[in-house]
Amino acid sequence: MRIVLVGPPGAGKGTQATRLAEKLRIPHISTGDLFRANISRQTELGKLAKSYMDAGDLVPDEVTIAMAKDRMAQPDAENGFLLDGFPRNVSQAEALDELLKSEGIKLDAVLDLEAPEDEVVKRIAGRRVCRKDSAHVFHVTYSPPKQEGVCDVCGGELYQRDDDSEETVRTRLEVYHTQTEPIIDYYRAQGLVVTISAMGPVDEVTGRALEALKSGQ
Ligand SMILES: [Zn+2]
Repeated sequence: MRIVLVGPPGAGKGTQATRLAEKLRIPHISTGDLFRANISRQTELGKLAKSYMDAGDLVPDEVTIAMAKDRMAQPDAENGFLLDGFPRNVSQAEALDELLKSEGIKLDAVLDLEAPEDEVVKRIAGRRVCRKDSAHVFHVTYSPPKQEGVCDVCGGELYQRDDDSEETVRTRLEVYHTQTEPIIDYYRAQGLVVTISAMGPVDEVTGRALEALKSGQ
């Protein structure tokens, strides 16, 4: 199955992508991982991407697309893949269509995770991370530590990352609305969009997604 996953920041996209890829036995291809892999292997594309990132600029679409093309040509992606974070605007979606067409393949579905904006803000802005180990993550409402401000695992101090402040979240949502949401309309015109609610326990959302993908609605 060839799937594109879309959803606003805070909808649990990364978590669902990992779980769905595992269940469907297809690789999870995220742009973050693509960048990291190319940069650490020092590929030409990686060096190019890094030069933009070091300058504080966005990596141009052509570079991202070329990385995605490389990755989709790997043997493990032969029977499908789940794209996460790409395409993130209509011009990338058009480029992806061209790319797939040239390979004689097509997308099966675009899975759209829906979450109300206020909920998304609450989810992200409530996150608290341990200073000693960023893998120790809590949430003031959903998984509060036993003692406020203190990590249950190691006793480290919990803090809110700058990225998680309400202001930053609102800005990221704005970018999502203006750049990424139009790709949902683009794919809807191709009859590919499957929308599910991203609310509720992680397991339930995964189950809902698998059901919806199976029935194609
Ligand atoms: Zn800790």
